[in-house]
Amino acid sequence: MRHAGHWIGGAETAGGGRRGEIFDPATGEVAGYVDLAAPADVDAAVAAARAAFPGWRDSSLTRRSKVLFAFRELMDRHRDELAALISAEHGKVHSDALGEVARGLEVVEFACGIPHLLKGGFSENVSTGVDSFSIRQPLGVVAGITPFNFPAMVPMWMFPVAVACGNTFVLKPSERDPSASLLMARLWKEAGLPDGVFNVVQGDKAAVDRLLEHPDVRAVSFVGSTPIARYVYQTGTANGKRVQALGGAKNHMLVLPDADLDLVADAAVNAGFGSAGERCMAISVVLAVDPVGDELVAKIVDRVGRLTVGPGDDPESDMGPLVTGTHRDKVASYLDTALAEGAKLVVDGRETPVKGGTVAARTPGFWLGPTVIDHVRPGTSVHRDEIFGPVLSVVRVGSYDEGLRVINETEYGNGTAVFTNDGGAARRFQNEVEVGMVGVNVPIPVPMAYYSFGGWKSSLFGDTHVHGTEGVHFYTRGKVITSRWLDPSHGGVNLGFPTNG
Ligand code: NAD
Repeated sequence: MRHAGHWIGGAETAGGGRRGEIFDPATGEVAGYVDLAAPADVDAAVAAARAAFPGWRDSSLTRRSKVLFAFRELMDRHRDELAALISAEHGKVHSDALGEVARGLEVVEFACGIPHLLKGGFSENVSTGVDSFSIRQPLGVVAGITPFNFPAMVPMWMFPVAVACGNTFVLKPSERDPSASLLMARLWKEAGLPDGVFNVVQGDKAAVDRLLEHPDVRAVSFVGSTPIARYVYQTGTANGKRVQALGGAKNHMLVLPDADLDLVADAAVNAGFGSAGERCMAISVVLAVDPVGDELVAKIVDRVGRLTVGPGDDPESDMGPLVTGTHRDKVASYLDTALAEGAKLVVDGRETPVKGGTVAARTPGFWLGPTVIDHVRPGTSVHRDEIFGPVLSVVRVGSYDEGLRVINETEYGNGTAVFTNDGGAARRFQNEVEVGMVGVNVPIPVPMAYYSFGGWKSSLFGDTHVHGTEGVHFYTRGKVITSRWLDPSHGGVNLGFPTNG
């Protein structure tokens, strides 16, 4: 049985109180336990981070980037181990878990350049003999609260940048797949990061609430569902903290009639069913502009029929199980809802064969095969709700304008994509669509680490996106210094407001 404890002050520590279960999603069996922090555990982690802050803040930029480089090398060396842990607890296939590690490592690589990223501005002689310069300084103890679907990558959106900027960090990972965070903590220590700079508290709402009210926590980065993101933003800011809270998504792919439908079908299947649809940038709605609907749906159904659904550690599996039984049941309930709302179930994932077992609905483990629902009407719950599973909806629209309106009337604004060979139409789309991350013939437009990741509307609360230069900005505060080195000519009393001369 695996046991995931906390990581405080450079060592793993067991919590004494409540515990949660860690499942093997492929079998449905309990594979281990995770400690669920009490407020006192959170206080211990914050105290360790607070004690480590002055030393880390004052460490040179060279030292910080050396530690980051070492961490990068260790993570790279242990990526298979990390991916196996992710796959075992989350359920995603090994190659997909390796992909999340690789995308997270790009943020570590970005943060290795921290000496350049923290360069300020300098103006000589803003007044005679007076210079002005700006610097950015770390905040202190900062916290990251992360979701189950990327147990390595999403924390890596946050902590490499926060730590590089000179902050100390407390991570509260998802209680559903907690082990990746502990491996990363061990590798930080091996890389030479001083104890207390990076801490992990496992837990649930009780841990989150304590972080949100703790007076020593200066900033909170959150990624998760929209209701919790809104709550974290409101509670954290009410307690005087800087907060960036990324929420849920419902991402649409707009397919114009001139698009190459084979490429579109490949993209829709990859982006809809990768990681069993448990990605905040998954495509969950295809908007097929007339007359492409019938042909496109046939091509998607053909590809879906060739997918192998099976355990994450089987190299032949294209798609693994969902994260928990409760989540699978919730996702599966939308299939009946779709029928009740007048849509057509063209592929029913409950009937999908699971490798080594029977069909999804009768196999132990949290299985649901790829599901395609056609003729979904805009505004119905299947279209509106974030389902967060392997369910791809097809909405038929008559024109570009109608498709754009459907996207812009959606509550969320995380990602979207347009598929077309018409540059003018694509350019119009990127200008008119109310979404934070836009793909042109790219179905999952996740920005590279040196850009910033974040959505619009109910997909993000706060005004700062994660990683990239916005991440550096979020984890630092600005200071402007005006300096003059005195000589006797500067004497004399003058109560007027300082002006330049
Ligand atoms: P979640 O909101 O249930 O949990 C996220 C975090 O909040 C976890 O650490 C969890 O322990 C904590 N939490 C849960 N309930 C809480 C409560 N009542 N009070 C305080 N804290 C609470 O999300 P999840 O199911 O783990 O992850 C899936 C969601 O995350 C989806 O909605 C997905 O779209 C979203 N997500 C968004 C992005 C993005 O970049 N916008 C990226 C990844 C995932």
